[in-house]
Amino acid sequence: MKRNKVIVVGCGRLGASIATKLSEMGEDVHILDVNEDAFRKLRETFSGFEMVGDATDLSVLENAQIKQAKSVVVTTNNDNTNIFIAHVAYYVFNVPRIVVRLADTDKGELLVGTRITPIYPFTLSLNQYLSMNGGGEDR
Ligand code: AMP
Repeated sequence: MKRNKVIVVGCGRLGASIATKLSEMGEDVHILDVNEDAFRKLRETFSGFEMVGDATDLSVLENAQIKQAKSVVVTTNNDNTNIFIAHVAYYVFNVPRIVVRLADTDKGELLVGTRITPIYPFTLSLNQYLSMNGGGEDR
């Protein structure tokens, strides 16, 4: 089966912005959120599919066509939820590219040995602050 979709989990500010941008770039985007109101954050240029559901439920991910996903971006507001969904995408559905937002940098340990890539807003903010002050990067 052809893997040509991008699944974005969580339609908060980050998820909605990523989904809109990818959609504008011509990607086939499916965005999932437990809360239908969250889709109001999508801009009018978003032309993908919006799906209401709890992404910790495997059947919800299947309905979002995760088996055809080349990439999954996980951006709910809970690190444990994000890691669980990323693990399901990796171990169950073998998605080639998985990116997960994590507030707690220590939780990155749970991704070691996988192809799951973390994004840490804390580290990005710290490094931006340090670079403004001529300091080096913190890792
Ligand atoms: P934010 O905290 O603004 O980045 O938004 C996170 C989004 O993730 C919210 O819109 C939540 O409704 C959504 N969310 C939280 N848990 C889940 C879940 N299990 N499945 C799908 N979406 C979720």
